[in-house]
Amino acid sequence: MHERGMLIVLSGPSGVGKGTVRQAMLADDFRDFQYSVSMTTRKPRPGEQDGVDYYFRTKEQFEAEIAAGQMLEYAKYVDNYYGTPVKYVNKTLDSGRDVLLEIEVKGAMQVREKCPDGVFIFLTPPDLMELKHRLIGRGTDSADVINKRVKQAAEEIKMMENYDYAVVNDEVPKACKRIERIIESEHLRVPRVIDKYRNMVQ
Ligand code: 5GP
Repeated sequence: MHERGMLIVLSGPSGVGKGTVRQAMLADDFRDFQYSVSMTTRKPRPGEQDGVDYYFRTKEQFEAEIAAGQMLEYAKYVDNYYGTPVKYVNKTLDSGRDVLLEIEVKGAMQVREKCPDGVFIFLTPPDLMELKHRLIGRGTDSADVINKRVKQAAEEIKMMENYDYAVVNDEVPKACKRIERIIESEHLRVPRVIDKYRNMVQ
């Protein structure tokens, strides 16, 4: 029997570039994971294909999937449903391959509850770290802007607390590399490999 695959959850605040990073990771021929195509009720954008970018469904269809227990997680985001069909994820993990989800934060927290052994990666905007410099910098921002930025940063850091890794999305190729290294290292963690070694000596 082979090892079960690992569930990798890429999430983060809206506008941080999760989709761009995901696409860049998928474009790598040597990638070693499968992407779980999400389901949504939003309309396709030009060039988007059903079954490739998303499974585009009506609200009624989506709600029927929820009622039938077919969603690993789902959330409403800007008036549309987004969710992860559970079947593909389980089938792929059972076959020993890793699965990548790229989802918003509410959905990621549902997955954390259901799959605590997943790897939870929080993508952060580069300016989250630069905030302090900006604030004490030349003093060009108005008090209002500063307050808003601090509040937003505090919210983002609060979200980050629920994740295993924080990856800065300063440049997309660099962010991808960091995520690839996380995946590689996670595969070497003792709780993930110990059974294999135990079986060997039995
Ligand atoms: P967009 O409409 O720009 O493709 O995606 C909007 C947001 O929905 C993004 O933050 C994206 O990460 C998130 N999203 C995409 N698929 C899923 C999903 O299956 N579940 C959840 N919870 N969020 C998703």
